Amino acid sequence: MDIISHTLTGVAVGTVFATISNSSWKRKGLIVLIGGLGGALPDLDAISLWSKFDSTIGAFLNLKHSGKEIYFGKLWYSHHAFFHSLLAPIILILIYLIIRNIRKFRVLKVVEYFKRNQYLYMTFFFGFVFHLLEDMPTPACVWGGVNLFFPSSSYIGGFGNIWWWNNYDLVLIIFGVIVVNLIINILPKNYHIAKVRLSVIMFSFGASLFLYQINNRGVDFSYTGHTKNYDKFELQSKQIQKKILGDKLFEIMTKIDNKIPFNF
Ligand SMILES: [Zn+2]
Repeated sequence: MDIISHTLTGVAVGTVFATISNSSWKRKGLIVLIGGLGGALPDLDAISLWSKFDSTIGAFLNLKHSGKEIYFGKLWYSHHAFFHSLLAPIILILIYLIIRNIRKFRVLKVVEYFKRNQYLYMTFFFGFVFHLLEDMPTPACVWGGVNLFFPSSSYIGGFGNIWWWNNYDLVLIIFGVIVVNLIINILPKNYHIAKVRLSVIMFSFGASLFLYQINNRGVDFSYTGHTKNYDKFELQSKQIQKKILGDKLFEIMTKIDNKIPFNF
């Protein structure tokens, strides 16, 4: 899926944890931001496809493979590999905790620090994990899914239920969850339990609707390796969106899409 959908999903996860935290608006804002960061971060491994990768990072690290070979390969730092695994957010959180407590490192102190900021880490973790789940229904391409249980060599997903991007209906569902959960957060603090329930119900409802939509596309987008039908699939995906959203909403979403400088 595209980076905008992933980031928004992380933000939606953040709005649930913002409700659970029952903390100040500043803290809630930080939780939502961290959710967005967790949702976007796995695609950091797509940096190898950057046009200047070989002459900058590749040259600096003296890499044997070109950026393109890395991106479409099965190296641990290839696309959909380690950075698309459950281990990656855990390691990233551990590295952060160690760096933050490096001066007077004591395990107990680190645990205490973790507990104090637990909602931030949970949001980051689940924002990250939802990105991995969202990548599974896209085509297998050369990877065959995501390397969820790295260091295991098995890849999970690549089902081809949806096209890589232009899944506007899904973006609108995610956006709806964010808006409703932000409204729930405005309710008074003493309704905390009810707010948490509402927030979780809203997120689950959005997730169910999301699942329904991806399973009812009516077109099988699955392919392995590379496909000659790339443009045909892309067009079919857009036609599906037009049918779901109607001409007017589709036109608005297409306009937004055209203004964004990367695949959406
Ligand atoms: Zn991804």
